[in-house]
Amino acid sequence: MSNEIVEQLRIIFCFCVTWSLIILLLWNAKKTFQEGIKQLKRLHQIPCSRCNYFTNDYRLKCTINPTTALSEEAIGCIDFERGTCNMSGAKRSSPDK
Ligand code: SF4
Repeated sequence: MSNEIVEQLRIIFCFCVTWSLIILLLWNAKKTFQEGIKQLKRLHQIPCSRCNYFTNDYRLKCTINPTTALSEEAIGCIDFERGTCNMSGAKRSSPDK
């Protein structure tokens, strides 16, 4: 009789631990997903790709603020000037020409 009680308690304990781990895993996955979305939205606020001063050249990304271009520090840049993406830098750096 006491063995049956111990067995049932063990089953209940394992059930609770298993579901606790599953819930913890799902909660962590949800939290990670939400933080990823939040970070993605923040990165989309970087205005450099729409700025006239953006060169699209990895050697000099921006002629005004080369160190902050394409980084989170560029969010709210006071030198931002709306324009189309300037591809001339990339074309100049092409080894074919
Ligand atoms: S001026 Fe500012 S917004 Fe424009 S490319 Fe440079 S860092 Fe980015």
